[in-house]
Amino acid sequence: ELPIFVAAQQHAQNDPQRVAVVDSVKQQSFTFTQLLEDAAALRKGILEQLGLSDLNERRIAFLATGYDYVVTQWATWAAGGIAVPLCTSHPVPELLYVIEDSDPSLVIIHPAFEQIAPALRKGCSANVIFLGLDPLSRNDNPSLPSFSPSFPFNRRALMIYTSGTTSRPKGCVTTHENITVQATSLIKAWKYSASDYLIHVLPLHHIHGIVNGLVASLLSGTTVEMRPKFDPAEIWSRWQDRGSSTMFFAVPTIYSRLNDYFDANIRGTDKENAARAGVQALRLIVSGSAALPTPIKAKFSEISSQILLERYGMTEIGMALSCGLEVEKRIDGSVGWPLPGVEVRLTKDGRVIEEDDEEGMIEIKGGNVFIEYWRRPEATSSEFTSDGWFKTGDVAKRDTTGAYYIQGRASVDIIKSGGYKVSALEVERKMLALDSIQEVAVVGLADQEWGQRVAAVVKFREGSAPLELPALRAELKHDMAAYKVPTMLKVVNSIERNAMGKINKKILVQKYWPEKL
Ligand code: ATP
Ligand code: MG
Repeated sequence: ELPIFVAAQQHAQNDPQRVAVVDSVKQQSFTFTQLLEDAAALRKGILEQLGLSDLNERRIAFLATGYDYVVTQWATWAAGGIAVPLCTSHPVPELLYVIEDSDPSLVIIHPAFEQIAPALRKGCSANVIFLGLDPLSRNDNPSLPSFSPSFPFNRRALMIYTSGTTSRPKGCVTTHENITVQATSLIKAWKYSASDYLIHVLPLHHIHGIVNGLVASLLSGTTVEMRPKFDPAEIWSRWQDRGSSTMFFAVPTIYSRLNDYFDANIRGTDKENAARAGVQALRLIVSGSAALPTPIKAKFSEISSQILLERYGMTEIGMALSCGLEVEKRIDGSVGWPLPGVEVRLTKDGRVIEEDDEEGMIEIKGGNVFIEYWRRPEATSSEFTSDGWFKTGDVAKRDTTGAYYIQGRASVDIIKSGGYKVSALEVERKMLALDSIQEVAVVGLADQEWGQRVAAVVKFREGSAPLELPALRAELKHDMAAYKVPTMLKVVNSIERNAMGKINKKILVQKYWPEKL
């Protein structure tokens, strides 16, 4: 039996009126009972489409948002399928990449995305059909099968594509057991419960939105209000409506936009007190998926009297490290301690690091760790050590309390310059402390003399005079060893980020210093 279905039935039994999902677009609430019934009905439609295919061949890619997303995902699982969620903001070529690579037997598209269906049909050989329309209608069928948590399911639950920050996106295959372990660990640490209410604004094709947002919530009976598009005005107005929500999860760029919106539209108006009080009333506000810049965190604190809880995770492992619910356990610049059930270690040249403050590669073990990269057996085996630890590719150090500090990705953020190692994340953090700098990406450029040079792509804050390189260097040297200070500078109007607020540094170098790759 699938834990999430068993839990949903339990929630429905305990409280038939308990709302599982609020859909902000449909402006409708759906109980756990309705969700189970709709998933059961759609399961039938899916099975009619697929016939009696081999369980392993039941990969179903889908493009949907809100309540329909949850129904499709659950119906896929109930039909013994592996869910491949597609990104609603990807252009057609990127959708086609994921569809071609995952090679699904069915692609289900919500009618809201109808306009791209012809291009998808033209570009791939998969069977592309619409949700909610014949033959996948789910409302007008009088002989709905009743839901059973013991529908035969596939051991494999999800294929989530990584962000593609360092290479082409890879399909990470996670099992139902993996995602249940990931969600249960978060529920223990962050204490989700049936009295919680999450406002969900994250993309639904990433682990953050799927496991932290949906699976852990629905497993624990938390109501999820799904808002397919993040809009700072809407979130501020929902928060003013005090007491109606308890949790919010987001990425640093979202907090930055919430801060900016507050300054521009709320600060100094008659809404200010209600807005501050509303956000202060939330039980839990979390940031992750990319490093949280201190100025964003500090500004959000000033506004909300809340300290953002930072955590670290990735598609392959779910969440691994997290600061604590207790305010004293939210340390600036740290992603906290191992989550329940997750083993974490640091290694350097094959040796496990025991010392405090020494840098090493983060390695992870536990029931949370994925099973394989889809159709990339070499990539899978090269990412595990011989004793079964997953090599994250991220470098960190640990303090005396065991709290971890992420230094960045070994492949792009650890810059080797003149025999020194420089953490791009550390330099970025220091640069962001300057008032005039709004955004920055620090990269390493190939260099004959130094091996690599430290370079910075900077967006200066509007209204502040951009610094020339010598002045910037002089400023930074007050607070940073000279070898860490960037020796090359590119001033830009914006730094491109993906849906999760991540910067692709390889693309940045290609764009601004193509000769230095
Ligand atoms: P690809 O693997 O295709 O290059 P990706 O690694 O960006 O893409 P994800 O799995 O979405 O894809 O991202 C995980 C990565 O995000 C981690 O390996 C880490 O580098 C970064 N990350 C996540 N949380 C944090 C955090 N709190 N602080 C700093 N970095 C973080
Ligand atoms: Mg990765």
